Parts: sequence; structure tokens; C-alpha cells
Amino acid sequence: LLQLWQPMNFLGFVYREIKQGLVDLETMFDLLRQNPEITDSPDALPLDVSGGAIRFEDVRFSYDPNRPILKGISFEVPAGKQVALVGPSGAGKSTISRLLYRFYDVSEGSISIDGQDLKDVTQTSLRQQIGMVPQDTVLFNDTIAYNIRYGRPSASEEEVHEAARMAQIADFIEQLPDGFETQVGERGLKLSGGEKQRVAIARTLLKAPPILILDEATSALDTQTEKEIQAALDVVSKDRTTLLIAHRLSTVIDADEIIVLKAGEIAERGTHDELLAMNGLYTTMWNRQREASEAEKKLAETRAQDVEG
Ligand code: ATP
Repeated sequence: LLQLWQPMNFLGFVYREIKQGLVDLETMFDLLRQNPEITDSPDALPLDVSGGAIRFEDVRFSYDPNRPILKGISFEVPAGKQVALVGPSGAGKSTISRLLYRFYDVSEGSISIDGQDLKDVTQTSLRQQIGMVPQDTVLFNDTIAYNIRYGRPSASEEEVHEAARMAQIADFIEQLPDGFETQVGERGLKLSGGEKQRVAIARTLLKAPPILILDEATSALDTQTEKEIQAALDVVSKDRTTLLIAHRLSTVIDADEIIVLKAGEIAERGTHDELLAMNGLYTTMWNRQREASEAEKKLAETRAQDVEG
């Protein structure tokens, strides 16, 4: 009976969360896919956010006991500041964001927000205070307005439009045949990765959480889309405690601190200029990306000349 109890209890938790509209669709998928062992402690309290300062203290974590993934990670994101995580694929960047959202518990060490250990607060209150802009947002089969309003169901039409404008997606929506009433999702209009991400940003703007996790898309975006998304991210992260998982180093130049992860450890840390001065891993990554984008630019120019000629 005990074996049955745990999954039932977990499904009950997921059901309650959905009913309260407190988890996003993507969060729900993640919850279903992931760990049923995360439960509220009997004396869990709601997370009380003042500034939203995040603190990782000697965090160690493994998905599978034989393979450590994070090997003693310590850093802080002061209230209202932005910290970027960069590093090679598989270094553990997304794992850090999953631990902050408490999809998993740390194996050792601790994570706290404004001095409260994540293990001591209710999951519902934690997730209410964190806005997550994932790489790939799942849209509901409903109108685009519904998809944006999901961030705060009580938002007025005006507020939905304003959020879309701030997320740099309003112009795109307005030229659709049914504007904000256009059906999107699997059974409606399919949006590109960049468009979906801006819908997620608009949603997050309405939710207005004090803490943000931004997971930058790995997929290549054209320069214009990249600029629009960057502008939207700048708006949403302004004055919010932000953890940015970055793949393009061009987006981290202004971060208050950049943490370079390598195989689950912090290899380097500092501002963009400090890291370049170290002439280490970050510099190598920076030079490699610059060369790649210059090569791309040249290729595009050659193509344009071919078309003209
Ligand atoms: P990327 O830049 O490619 O997104 P990342 O730095 O975000 O990479 P993570 O996704 O945190 O890396 O993964 C770190 C390591 O953990 C990888 O080796 C990965 O294979 C492993 N890993 C990730 N998720 C799981 C999981 N659910 N179960 C087991 N191992 C996992």
C-alpha cells in the first residue's frame, strides 16, 4: 500500500497545483517527468521574499549516485542583480536552475532565498515567486491572449497588450489575421522558437515575480530576432534577481557576475572584463564565438553578393 501511496500523493500534488493555476504547463511536464520525492516538510512555511537574494552554499548534486554532477558550487545573486551561468554543454547549468526551482533536492550543501532554505518553504510559494522563461515554451491550444494572460489570469486586456508590447511581440501579433484572438499551439498557428520565447516573456511580465530564471535558447536565431529577444529579456529582468543560463556570450556582457562552469565546478568567475583579463576558459569561449559569428557574417555577405550578382 505504501508503494501506491507515494505516486498517488504526488499526483494529488500535481492536480492541486494545476487547479490553482500555479504551475505552467512546462513545469507540470517537468514535475511529471521528475522527482516524486520532493515533498513539503511538515512545518514548511510560505517563502517570505524581501529582495529575493539567492545563495548556493557548497551545493553538491547527482542524478545518479555514481555520477556527481555538481561538485561544490557556491555563489550568490544579490537582490535585484543578474548572475549568468556559462560553460560547455553538460557542465551543469540547467541542473542549477532545476535545483533552484526545487525539481530536485541538493545532495549536500544548501540553497536559500532571503535566508530561507528551500527545504523549509512550501513548493507552491517558492514557484509563485520564481518566473521561469524556458528555452522552449509549450503553448496551450488556445488564443494568444489566453497564453499570455496565463501569467496572471486576472490581467485586463490592456495589461495583456502592454506585456506583449514590452516583450517585443505585439507587432507580430497585431499583423495576424485574428490578432490576439488567433489560435496557437499544436492545433493552431505554430510559432517559431523565438516567438514562443517572447510569449513566455510576456507571460512572465504579467506574473511579475521577484526572481527570474532565464534559459536562453540554444537554437540559432537570426540577428533581428536575437536583438528583439534580448530587448525583451532586458525589460523582464530589470530590477529582478535573475539567474541567466546563457549560450551566447554576447548576452552576458552586462551581467553583474559571470560564473564559468566546467564539469560541475566553478572554473572562473567575474565580470566580462575581469574574465577576459584572466585569459582562460572564458576568453577561449569568447574568441571561439566571435570567430564563429564573423564567419557567419562573411557567409551571409557572400550569399547576398551572389544574389545581387
Ligand atoms: P547544455 O548547455 O547542453 O544545456 P548544461 O550545462 O545545462 O548543458 P545539464 O543539463 O545541467 O548541463 O546537465 C549536466 C549533466 O547532467 C549532463 O552530463 C547530463 O547528461 C546530466 N543530466 C541532466 N539531466 C539528467 C537527468 N534527468 N538524469 C540523469 N542525468 C542528467
